[in-house]
Amino acid sequence: MFSPTTAPDVTETVTKRIREHRNYLNTNPGYTWAYSTDRETVGRFSGVVQAVVEVELHIKFSKNPGQRPDWVEAHTVQFAAAARCAGHGCPDSVHEVAPTDEFLLDADADETAPAALPLVAAAQAWAQQHAEACRALPYDGR
Ligand SMILES: [Zn+2]
Repeated sequence: MFSPTTAPDVTETVTKRIREHRNYLNTNPGYTWAYSTDRETVGRFSGVVQAVVEVELHIKFSKNPGQRPDWVEAHTVQFAAAARCAGHGCPDSVHEVAPTDEFLLDADADETAPAALPLVAAAQAWAQQHAEACRALPYDGR
């Protein structure tokens, strides 16, 4: 079952990560590592035989080279989501939700963050449905 106590507030998490990334870029101006992806677990479901299905939100930070004639580069953020079943031998273990467009990193984080919600909802819906149907056994490390 989905346990809301372990699931972070998506909007809050995304807003926080965007601000952290901005701070990071501000304090590392010469550093070129503008490309990174934060992976947040935003849901966890247990299958009928206890295999765990996890929902991950990917917050992809990138840099857009800009367009003619100015080529002013801009830092961007984009969201994607995936659900993953850890069941051993699960025949259909990954479901990926198509990513959003890129948003400007400098745009208001409170307005950008909600764009991640429909993706998370779609991945969670798949995860819940999968958890209810999946007969794969939990991975036992063997
Ligand atoms: Zn499965």
